[in-house]
Amino acid sequence: MRLRSKTADPVVPETADGGAAPPRVSRGVRWLSGTLALLLVVYALALVVLRPPSPGSELAFGDLQRKVLAGEVASARLLDEDARVVGTLADGAQFWTSYPRSDTATNDLLRSLFNAETPVSVQTQTGKAMVRFVAQFLLPLVILANLFALLFYATRSSGDGASEFLLFGKLGDKRVGKARTATTFADVAGARESIIELAEVRDYLADPKAFEVMGALPPKGVLLVGPPGCGKTLLARAVAGEANASFYSISGSEFVESLVGVGAARVRSLFAQARAHAPSIIFIDELDGAGRQRGAGLGGGHDEREQTLNELLVQMDGFSPSEGVVVLGATNRPDILDSALLRAGRFDRHITIERPDAAGRLEILRLHAHKRRLADPEADLPHIARRTAGFTGADLANVVNEAALLTVRAKASSIDRRALEEAVERVLSGPRRAARLIPPAEKSRIAVHEAGHAVVAAALGKAAEVDKLSVIARGNGVGHLAMLEEDKAVFTRDEMAGRITIAMAGIAAEEMILGQPSTGSEADLERATNTARDMAGRFGMSRLGRVRVLREQGEIFLGRDYLASHDVSQPTLEQLDSEIRRILDEEETAARNILDQHRTVLDNLTAALVEQETLSGIELERHLNAVAGYTRPTPTPAAGSGGTRKTPLR
Ligand code: ADP
Ligand code: MG
Ligand code: ZN
Repeated sequence: MRLRSKTADPVVPETADGGAAPPRVSRGVRWLSGTLALLLVVYALALVVLRPPSPGSELAFGDLQRKVLAGEVASARLLDEDARVVGTLADGAQFWTSYPRSDTATNDLLRSLFNAETPVSVQTQTGKAMVRFVAQFLLPLVILANLFALLFYATRSSGDGASEFLLFGKLGDKRVGKARTATTFADVAGARESIIELAEVRDYLADPKAFEVMGALPPKGVLLVGPPGCGKTLLARAVAGEANASFYSISGSEFVESLVGVGAARVRSLFAQARAHAPSIIFIDELDGAGRQRGAGLGGGHDEREQTLNELLVQMDGFSPSEGVVVLGATNRPDILDSALLRAGRFDRHITIERPDAAGRLEILRLHAHKRRLADPEADLPHIARRTAGFTGADLANVVNEAALLTVRAKASSIDRRALEEAVERVLSGPRRAARLIPPAEKSRIAVHEAGHAVVAAALGKAAEVDKLSVIARGNGVGHLAMLEEDKAVFTRDEMAGRITIAMAGIAAEEMILGQPSTGSEADLERATNTARDMAGRFGMSRLGRVRVLREQGEIFLGRDYLASHDVSQPTLEQLDSEIRRILDEEETAARNILDQHRTVLDNLTAALVEQETLSGIELERHLNAVAGYTRPTPTPAAGSGGTRKTPLR
């Protein structure tokens, strides 16, 4: 895909195939280097023309004089400009002799030739004299002047210090060019809303004049915000492809280099080129690398990043709406961007790209499966889309690719559901740990644990969502229970509590059947605790009343964290803690009750799991159908507290 070396200039426009653009250097430089080449050719030609004729063999000057006196020279021609005599000897052989450029020697030779009555002609060679003058004096001057002009032009036209000159020749054929990308909106699936937003950018780039005529302010900077792998880069390229605009891509971290001023110079050079090749899109990937809040770093306010950022701001202000340049930025951390970047006239338009929902995932899977041979895409892809809640577009592309690889490895003719499912799990948690042998005792403990989860889930009416049960470890986990997650945005209190019950079921089953818990429940406990904390602290689902005492902390896309708000009193916090405790205890008890009630189902399921290692489909259903529904007792509100109870807040 995109390879970028650290030393290469980052401003490498990409073509459809990701390769380098055809050479294009700025006009002055091109003209000057053309002239230079021409001059050098002329110089070489002149040198050829100036070569004195040398027929036959060379005679020393003394020998020639002797032969003249002896009458052995049949004829001679004196070339004045070349200071050379060419002629024929009495025996017919040709000769040439160069003589010293002094009057006495020439006179001596001429006199002896005349005395010997040899036929002599003298050529003054005025043409040759002029050529020599031009070649020896004028040409070198002109060539030097041209070279200086070239130097001057090359350094100035890039606006980038000496870099274009230094790169000229070496990288000159790679860096500039009206590159177009072949990506279009059709290559992006499940992002309809983002595409609608970006269509305006496309319309503007396709016809900047129309905006100018209407006096409409076009988009200048658009920030794509979203978790990694959701297609931000893809969308940016698609806009360029749709509008048939040049695409300049650079990543924020490339701006920030150790050499002082390099980052700022790069920004300048990038904008200069984009403007020269308008309409164009400047895409700054991982914008947070360059646009971090100023003054936030260590080492004072004069660090490199700050310079770069300032230059970026200056450049964004510097181009007018009619120029046909749009800056697209991408980041997964909009919260740490400098606010100056986000104000009007800069990155003032934000497009949030979310992880795709089930329908979106299906679309993305279809898109990536399109060119591959699937056994039954109509049935398999919706199934996989349902199982992959939380996957990004990149994950899904990866799933399809992994499935294809697995199919190749198995030498099968088409990608079937098994391969797709295996691929999902590979992407989710690394390849199957084939090398690790599970000791029998551990295996039965894992079976008990997972069966516990499944039985409680079934009792809570989620039997249909339990998709697969396995004692085979994947990635870091031990065993696993695959549940089909619904794409739900709103959860009731009972649903939240049910999650905790299911999470607690593993450890409860272990304790009930094997007498003690194990370390295998850490992740379950973490999930349960977080859910209980959310219920009490965020959603007003506890005896604390309808109040939100936790505030969000950290980056939206890098896992959320909730801390106590600043204005929550100590007693409230203590109450929050005890509510979390109570919820966890109650749900654990509920899990125990359910398991007690279905001890035989639990035992049967465990046995089946130990034997078969993996259970799914009808077989799993057969076990879980024996589980009766569980009715949750209505929670008793704390004395004096109702839905409207006011929690003491400072
Ligand atoms: P980001 O820049 O947000 O980190 P990319 O644009 O680099 O993500 O996406 C990586 C890859 O994932 C893309 O090249 C594409 O193959 C796939 N992908 C991501 N989102 C989508 C989508 N909505 N439709 C199709 N493919 C997608
Ligand atoms: Mg990206
Ligand atoms: Zn578990």
